[in-house]
Amino acid sequence: MLPKEGRGVPMLSVQPKGKQKGCAGCNRKIKDRYLLKALDKYWHEDCLKCACCDCRLGEVGSTLYTKANLILCRRDYLRLFGTTGNCAACSKLIPAFEMVMRARDNVYHLDCFACQLCNQRFCVGDKFFLKNNMILCQMDYEEGQLNGTFESQVQ
Ligand SMILES: [Zn+2]
Ligand SMILES: [Zn+2]
Ligand SMILES: [Zn+2]
Ligand SMILES: [Zn+2]
Repeated sequence: MLPKEGRGVPMLSVQPKGKQKGCAGCNRKIKDRYLLKALDKYWHEDCLKCACCDCRLGEVGSTLYTKANLILCRRDYLRLFGTTGNCAACSKLIPAFEMVMRARDNVYHLDCFACQLCNQRFCVGDKFFLKNNMILCQMDYEEGQLNGTFESQVQ
């Protein structure tokens, strides 16, 4: 049975019993005192490594993560496939490896972080305002204040 994506797969350190097992990583027989059992296969402790950082998974925890035929440690799994949250502007998920902009509790794609009225992008040091959960440039914010636009909206 294939493990569900997104969840850790348990690894067990076991002492080999009976017939020698073949390692699913290098295909050689496992003659060590301990071997790892994961994904219904047996592995040398040296052969069960994170595809990304090469760490020996048996040493960093008791679970591994798989996705798209990759075996990964938790840290790399989250870095590659985890998410930061939903972009407050476009509502799409933001993968954990992407750079984001934050304003209060909101996160935004870099591309989405612009005034939601005039689409002006912000540069470092530019002022921006959050009103009714919208990002606004100073001009639109002040205009909205003057016209009372914001007060008529439900917070
Ligand atoms: Zn091996
Ligand atoms: Zn790793
Ligand atoms: Zn977005
Ligand atoms: Zn604007």
